Amino acid sequence: MTDFSMALNEDQQTIRDWLHSFAVNEMRPIAAEWDQREETPWDFIRTAAAAGIYSLDFFANAFADPSGLTLVLACEELAWGDAGLAMNIVGSTLGVAGIMANGTPEQQMEWIPICFGTPDDPKLSAFCVSEPDAGSDVSSLRTRAVYDEANDEWVLNGTKTWITNGGIAAVHVVVASVDPALGGRGQASFVIPEGTPGIRMGQKFLKMGIRASHTAEVVLENCRIPGRFLLGGKDKLDERLARAREGTRTSGQAAMATFEVTRPSVGAQALGIARAAYEYALDYAKERQQFGRPIIENQAIAFKLADMRTQIEASRLLVWHAAWMGAQRMPFSNGEGSMSKLHASETAVKVTEEAIQILGGYGYTRDYPVERWHRDSKIYTIFEGTSEIQRLIIARAISGVKIS
Ligand SMILES: Cc1cc2nc3c(=O)[nH]c(=O)nc-3n(C[C@H](O)[C@H](O)[C@H](O)COP(=O)(O)OP(=O)(O)OC[C@H]3O[C@@H](n4cnc5c(N)ncnc54)[C@H](O)[C@@H]3O)c2cc1C
Repeated sequence: MTDFSMALNEDQQTIRDWLHSFAVNEMRPIAAEWDQREETPWDFIRTAAAAGIYSLDFFANAFADPSGLTLVLACEELAWGDAGLAMNIVGSTLGVAGIMANGTPEQQMEWIPICFGTPDDPKLSAFCVSEPDAGSDVSSLRTRAVYDEANDEWVLNGTKTWITNGGIAAVHVVVASVDPALGGRGQASFVIPEGTPGIRMGQKFLKMGIRASHTAEVVLENCRIPGRFLLGGKDKLDERLARAREGTRTSGQAAMATFEVTRPSVGAQALGIARAAYEYALDYAKERQQFGRPIIENQAIAFKLADMRTQIEASRLLVWHAAWMGAQRMPFSNGEGSMSKLHASETAVKVTEEAIQILGGYGYTRDYPVERWHRDSKIYTIFEGTSEIQRLIIARAISGVKIS
């Protein structure tokens, strides 16, 4: 077990500094443009792939860090650069986490490299859980996967919605119900490679923030895939279903297993946005003169900045601690993963709003980045479990009571 420490080792400092300069040089200058264009920034993805940041190697090393901190450091720096662009780098890790959480070692070896592609031809992956009628309530998925024993194939039907990289990914990891009577315990995850007949992109959504990240529906119509595309394999699924039918405790929902491990890194992205806005507002408050003096000399402004920084530091502690716990395979027995995501996301919304207030009218215009950061921050209280759902998870964990 690695001890928890906030002191970064040399490797971590080097990675942080490297990503920070990438954010300064390759992200900040193009962030406003891609926010306006609201398209997938393939040139940027290629730049990140060529730099070795969008790559299997980079993420494999980050995941392998025994302290758990490299991944959250990376997420913070990239989101500091721009959260929408960053989502093109980190969004694929959700699909990858879905494969890691549910796939056999052979499936991980086969599919994870395909999620990233190569530096010359980078690819994306998507993790498809949410449906029009099943957002927070992931146990009520309607997408069905039916086994065709004669052909050893699965047939999937249903509609997934608000999927990051949906319809443009090389690999879609789809969570579907194999036994609706079992609710969340009757679900399984499947990999569907691009080019498979029966999977297509539906509506592309226009969004408030993280507009450089593609979000769309994924429609499955009699989508036939070989039996081996079921993550974890049929024997393991049959055993799990049998246990669930007997009422024995099982290892839980396929989707939840993925979200558990990714929450601290989602919190870290929110932290990156909050830090960007705080730093900008601090500099601005020292320079902007009103009534013959810098506005920071007013306690009303200085105290805002003090609160912003305090909340950011508190978020980082929660995020790093949860990331460390995750790397030690410690259970989040008090909902620590949820705490980190909840606190960091709500901090990001609040801090970016305060940053607009500190910039006054300028902050409200698109000439300054703080309005974009505020728009970008809001999604972090919604996706990968809303703030209300995080509170539910924490409340259940700390009380042992089935709170609803
Ligand atoms: C930009 C974007 C990207 C996304 N990317 C992905 C992706 O890649 N893959 C994917 O699968 N999904 C993705 N999502 C979907 C996202 O995870 C869902 O939007 C989220 O889980 C909430 O579901 P919902 O929108 O249906 O809200 P609902 O579940 O309908 O919730 C509406 C409101 O009710 C509250 N609520 C619901 N149930 C309870 C309860 N029991 N107690 C208290 N309050 C409750 C919620 O907190 C919320 O405030 C994405 C969404 C967006 C907007």
